[in-house]
Amino acid sequence: MFAQALLTWYDYHQRDLPWRGEKDPYKVWVSEIILQQTRVQQGWDYYHRFIETFPDVRSLAEADEQEVLRVWQGLGYYSRARHIHHAAKQIMSDFGGIFPARYEDIRTLKGVGDYTAAAIAAFAFGLPHPAVDGNMLRVFSRYFGIREDIALPKTRREITARATREMKGTDPAKFNQAMMDFGATQCTPANPDCSVCPLQKSCYAHQHDLTDMLPVKIQKIKKRQRYFRLTMYLAHNKTILEKRVGNDIWRNMYQFPLQEFPTPPEQGEHYVATIHETLTHQQLQADLYVVPCRRLPKLQEHQIFVSLDQLSQYPMPKIMTIFLKEHLQITLT
Ligand code: SF4
Repeated sequence: MFAQALLTWYDYHQRDLPWRGEKDPYKVWVSEIILQQTRVQQGWDYYHRFIETFPDVRSLAEADEQEVLRVWQGLGYYSRARHIHHAAKQIMSDFGGIFPARYEDIRTLKGVGDYTAAAIAAFAFGLPHPAVDGNMLRVFSRYFGIREDIALPKTRREITARATREMKGTDPAKFNQAMMDFGATQCTPANPDCSVCPLQKSCYAHQHDLTDMLPVKIQKIKKRQRYFRLTMYLAHNKTILEKRVGNDIWRNMYQFPLQEFPTPPEQGEHYVATIHETLTHQQLQADLYVVPCRRLPKLQEHQIFVSLDQLSQYPMPKIMTIFLKEHLQITLT
């Protein structure tokens, strides 16, 4: 009943998304990783660039990490780029260069969680695995009246089991796509339009006037606040970049020399702008200073001199590219 109504709805309301119908597991994988934190339109451009630069698993596995980061630049969440690179090497070493076709094997790839493994299994191989994301958790919670916290792994497992039962006998790729579109456009987080919903008669939340209360989401990630000061020293069209090493954000990317403060620092001479960026677990605030000087300061560890027209050769975090483009009008190609 649920699946049938959902799939009929989908026949009339499906979104025309560029990836639809793709069956090449490599391309499905790349698109799913890009889409994890990115809007469709922006993601589509990056997807093309990525596939053009690395057309298959082998070319990605053999690429230099800096090259992968450079193609990824601007998308943020750089751990995804590192993971996808690492996973391509895994496919070469553990699966003879052939993309694994079993859910359990796909799940072993670095950076591939339950959702992405299920999406690849269903879209590329037609396997009956529900891709349980926020949309599916919300729709199931409302339709079946599930009152447990959807942030809990136990609730997610229960909804996965229920979705697996519901998708039985359907085309798994179509079922997953229908769930995504239904959640994104019909059973939306705020103000779902139940009056035109084909499931309203059997929907628990609608029948019990609980649409606003479901899904239940109690756990909230507390984000760590960080305050940076980035200093761009400038002498004769040259500046200093610093490679970020260690196990923190932006690993192996380049930034202007950076100081970190425990609380928001006072702004002083040479201050240009402040940029904020939200990561999954961190909230960043970065103040940019531009300091013209006759000679650049002596290099510290991991620092290099770079002329301004060569800045684009270095992979940089989003905050840096925003500074350069929007506040300093430096074009990065
Ligand atoms: S009736 Fe409303 S709450 Fe229930 S599935 Fe439809 S849109 Fe969602």
